[in-house]
Amino acid sequence: MIKNLTCKMLIQRCFLRLLHIAPRVRFAPSPTGYLHLGGLRTALYNYLFAKSRGGVFILRIEDTDQTRKVEGSINALTNDLEWAGIECDEGPSKGGNFGPYVQSERLNIYQEYIEKLLANGSAYKCFCTERRLNILRRDAIRTQRIPKYDNKCRNLTPANIQEKIKAGTPYCIRFKLSSDCSSFEDLIFGGIAYDVSLNEGDPVVMKSDGYPTYHFANVVDDYLMGVTHVLRGVEWQISTTKHLLIYKAFGWTPPLFGHLPLIVNADGTKLSKRQSDVKVEDYRTKGIYPLALVNYITLSGGGFEHVVGEGIRLKTMDELADEFHIEKISSHPSRLNPDLLEECNRLELRRHLEDEKLTKSLILNLQNLIKNKYSSENLNVSEEHVRSVLLWATSRITRIEELVTPKFAFLWILPSNKNLEVNRNLFEKLVSDLENLEKFEQDSIKDNLKNFSAENGVKFPVLMKMLRSVLSGLNEGPSVSEMMQLLGKFQSLERIKAAIR
Ligand code: GLU
Repeated sequence: MIKNLTCKMLIQRCFLRLLHIAPRVRFAPSPTGYLHLGGLRTALYNYLFAKSRGGVFILRIEDTDQTRKVEGSINALTNDLEWAGIECDEGPSKGGNFGPYVQSERLNIYQEYIEKLLANGSAYKCFCTERRLNILRRDAIRTQRIPKYDNKCRNLTPANIQEKIKAGTPYCIRFKLSSDCSSFEDLIFGGIAYDVSLNEGDPVVMKSDGYPTYHFANVVDDYLMGVTHVLRGVEWQISTTKHLLIYKAFGWTPPLFGHLPLIVNADGTKLSKRQSDVKVEDYRTKGIYPLALVNYITLSGGGFEHVVGEGIRLKTMDELADEFHIEKISSHPSRLNPDLLEECNRLELRRHLEDEKLTKSLILNLQNLIKNKYSSENLNVSEEHVRSVLLWATSRITRIEELVTPKFAFLWILPSNKNLEVNRNLFEKLVSDLENLEKFEQDSIKDNLKNFSAENGVKFPVLMKMLRSVLSGLNEGPSVSEMMQLLGKFQSLERIKAAIR
């Protein structure tokens, strides 16, 4: 059962807002392709976290790596989020007081903050050529050392620098790493220690083309946008101490960080982006409902009280937000259990059929699916028929798309029974017998067929086998009487008549 926001929840949220502890969180995807399940989980958990505490959810597009930008992906991403019911409070199309929310529109801001780092000595100009960096890399690999920049340009004198600039030598800006912030308290993983300066050379914070790198832009934006909690995928955990050093260099208080564990397959193996069903868009086109997908993610991803034996219950976004507790997210990889997705979708399908408006649109969708799939002119797609099939099918299917698979084709089109041999006399008798049947429902049909077989000396299973073929062209499927009720009297008789024509 889906409930609306309770009064208690509303009071709780208002109270939190008044206490000024409302968090500001963000989802910061790079427009490099489609939104996959991991990205949706990050967006969802940020959204739930914000909603659970009366906070603000920001969408920020991180497109500073223009070479990886994929045309159309910002739109696709926004559509996917909207479809999933994740609406941002601030973002590129929504606006807000902290914009622009697309990084490529903030280049002047990054320039201003780079100047600050250069001025306070935390960053420096690096004139090393690509060729030199390649040589360093190759040497390190050859001698089995970690490939990293040797920080050579840290030691250039002001005169050296002036000279190179005068000569028009291109340069980038690097940030000086130190061991100052080498640990932090992760909201999900607990204490994390990582001295980035031991493992990396000074990172580039601004490229020679004037574009900032992810690490720098991310920190500047999180700070300027007032982000209080950074919840992101665990793959970024290793970068966090680097980010903390940048915060320190500016003298800023950093947000709190929480890293969401990996999402893995049921058997613990890694999800591959190549597996097509990892794309949110694919779930959608396969007929998965947004609320089903969202519940599925939360069932696998943790963050909720797990009541043993409760069974699966679909929760609305408001309920999910209300029950979300960041401290309940486990640091173990989240195992996906595809059976749960099926179950969630079935529950959502049932919920649609309990609501007349949603049912109407289901009927329309199914009618379109049928028309697109079968080209026959005699399609059996009346609203009444489609509605009764849907009601019948809820315990058999999880997606309406299944109803246009060969198994269910008989519901919409006449079966082709070209080589079928039937006993003409027997079927003629059966037609007039069924024509007289007033109540054309499963039980009465079954009783009638039983009597018919006894009276006409034909074994019941034999009669059923013939009828099943005539009605559906299949050797198995729902019972004959069930099929007849679904097809209705007219269609059932038409099909029997067609077989003896
Ligand atoms: N742009 C990064 C990504 O696409 C965001 C990482 C972060 O949230 O800091 O994953």
